[in-house]
Amino acid sequence: MNIILLGAPGAGKGTQASKIQAHYNLLHISTGDIFRANIKGGTEIGKLAKSYIDAGKLVPDEVTCDIVKDRLNWDDAKDGYMLDGFPRNVFQATELDKFAEIDLCLNIDVDEALLMDRICGRRVCSCGESYHVSTLNGATTCAKCGKELYRRADDNPETVKTRLDTYKSQTAPLIDYYRAQGKLATVTSGEMSPDEVFGQIKKILDK
Ligand code: AMP
Repeated sequence: MNIILLGAPGAGKGTQASKIQAHYNLLHISTGDIFRANIKGGTEIGKLAKSYIDAGKLVPDEVTCDIVKDRLNWDDAKDGYMLDGFPRNVFQATELDKFAEIDLCLNIDVDEALLMDRICGRRVCSCGESYHVSTLNGATTCAKCGKELYRRADDNPETVKTRLDTYKSQTAPLIDYYRAQGKLATVTSGEMSPDEVFGQIKKILDK
């Protein structure tokens, strides 16, 4: 099964992706993670992506689409995958339709008022886990792997505002795009716990 995880920044896509990957053994492909790995590795793509990411803007479509097209050609993607953070606009979705067969777009819907606090309080681990400061009780290391937690450079109020605006103007139209294709399923996360949201997702995916 080939799935897209759609949702605003802070909707919990990464958290749910970890759960889906563990439960269904489905490959998780995050364009944000790919860009961050490139930035860390000092590659040309990383250098280009950094200026856009730091400003809360989208990395140019051509670069992003090429990366995804290449990644989907790897052997490990043959048995299915979940895309997290891609597509981010209608152009990318149209390009994706040219080189992939998408079965389902899972839209995680969260009240906008919750997003700013969620992202600005987020602490992440390089293993992929993410936490909120309010539940860490002062802990600074990952409960799963023990590594030091950190705050993403783009998880600051100014950049988050731009990212939310970008989501509204460019990414949210994808809800209609996939609805029109009959592939949309929406879970409403509200203030539910990650496990409760995953419960809803399982009901959809087990159908
Ligand atoms: P994320 O980890 O999904 O929140 O992505 C972090 C940042 O990476 C975004 O704010 C964008 O700057 C960039 N990015 C990730 N995915 C895409 C994409 N599909 N198209 C353009 N830029 C992206």
